[in-house]
Amino acid sequence: MKADAPAIPRGLLRRLDEDAVICAEGYLFELERRGYLQAGPYVPEVVLEHPEVVAGLHLEFWRAGTDVIEAFTYYGHREKLRLIGREHLLEPLQKRALSIAQSVAGSVAGERPLVAGNICNTNVWDPADRATDAQVAAMFDEQVAWAAEANVDFMIAETFSFFGEAELALASIRRAGMPAVVTFAHHREEGLRDGVLLDEAARRLEEAGVDVVGVNCTRGPRTMLPDVERIRRSVSCHVAALPVPYRTTDDQPTFQSLGETGAHGPPGDRSFPTALDPFTCHRYEMAAFARTAYEMGVRYLGVCCGAGPHHVRSIAEALGRRPPASRYSPDMSRHYALGSDATLRRHNQEFVEKL
Ligand SMILES: [Zn+2]
Repeated sequence: MKADAPAIPRGLLRRLDEDAVICAEGYLFELERRGYLQAGPYVPEVVLEHPEVVAGLHLEFWRAGTDVIEAFTYYGHREKLRLIGREHLLEPLQKRALSIAQSVAGSVAGERPLVAGNICNTNVWDPADRATDAQVAAMFDEQVAWAAEANVDFMIAETFSFFGEAELALASIRRAGMPAVVTFAHHREEGLRDGVLLDEAARRLEEAGVDVVGVNCTRGPRTMLPDVERIRRSVSCHVAALPVPYRTTDDQPTFQSLGETGAHGPPGDRSFPTALDPFTCHRYEMAAFARTAYEMGVRYLGVCCGAGPHHVRSIAEALGRRPPASRYSPDMSRHYALGSDATLRRHNQEFVEKL
């Protein structure tokens, strides 16, 4: 055991009761940007092709302050692999992602981070076709079983835009006896795609035994906050809030609906997913969101698609922490022109108005 680590790492619920839990997400977007998987199908093939890159990103997020190493199985499910003709890679991909997460968690200094397994929207479930219940439950069960085998600390079930599918995900996790964090992805309509309003959806999952319920993905800080407030008011269990770091608005409340016009606009009429850069939130906006949500009583916080380590570090610092990467947090007092350090050259400081 490492010298500075507590004898027994704290579990998810204890950490939530004592303080807050930060969870970095957004692996799919970040690894697409870096050229390791394809926008569109969005399948995490990088897990098998470049496991060292996935491990490196886990480590970067850990240095920035994440408490959770989330195994990168997002969209590594049967339906997505079928889409790219690689269903035979399902089990190796899932198991490899889990083992990468465990090995990173075991390699870092201090208290061992939590390792989470992941299941998500299958794109198979259809409220009008109840035969898909069994099909989807089987997909969840096999993934949850691999995560249990890999000794994860808890399961994340995320980005559900149908209440009914989230309910199936929770049931699968409960059958395996693991703690469950379930988050909804709220699109433009008032409620979820099967008509259930968010507060009711959260309440029903709490009744079904969820440990943490909330929202992730789709909405930026500004348009996610009212949802978070609504959910916080409607349940007594812990609440999760993991926005995308994009400047969504009342007219364009989701990152899928953000759009720009102009001569150099994106192909098509949407900026999603590959031309969202001009809408990106800076680190201080993400910190402000985390602070506001925390004050509201929300204890499970993070960032989804679009997240960079600087966003995560900023949230950690807003919660009063100093993760390893805080060693390099900004110190503009030592900037050659904008700084105030006594040893700086005056002619550069005087140049500041012309910068
Ligand atoms: Zn996302």
